[in-house]
Amino acid sequence: MDVFTHTLDEVAAHPGVVARQRGLDGLSEQCRSCPVVRSCGGGLYAHRYRTGSGFLNPSVYCTDLQRLKERLGKRRAYRLVFVDAEPCCLR
Ligand code: SF4
Repeated sequence: MDVFTHTLDEVAAHPGVVARQRGLDGLSEQCRSCPVVRSCGGGLYAHRYRTGSGFLNPSVYCTDLQRLKERLGKRRAYRLVFVDAEPCCLR
């Protein structure tokens, strides 16, 4: 796709774009039940890909993301911005 031959509506309807607009429903089962999903969001989309199951997986960096979120979650400023506030991508 490119800006010369496709409209914005066509881009918005592309399965790769639609998949990222689904919030929690677009995440793997493991991510949906994860205690840090509100701040992690399943990790970077490209890091979720696995042959056979596509992008419906936790991030390849899941273990690191969990540790990072748990440690940062203990800090008040981080909690105010990333834990207590609901990320727009998961609404
Ligand atoms: S920490 Fe792992 S399981 Fe939890 S939301 Fe992130 S990628 Fe998914």
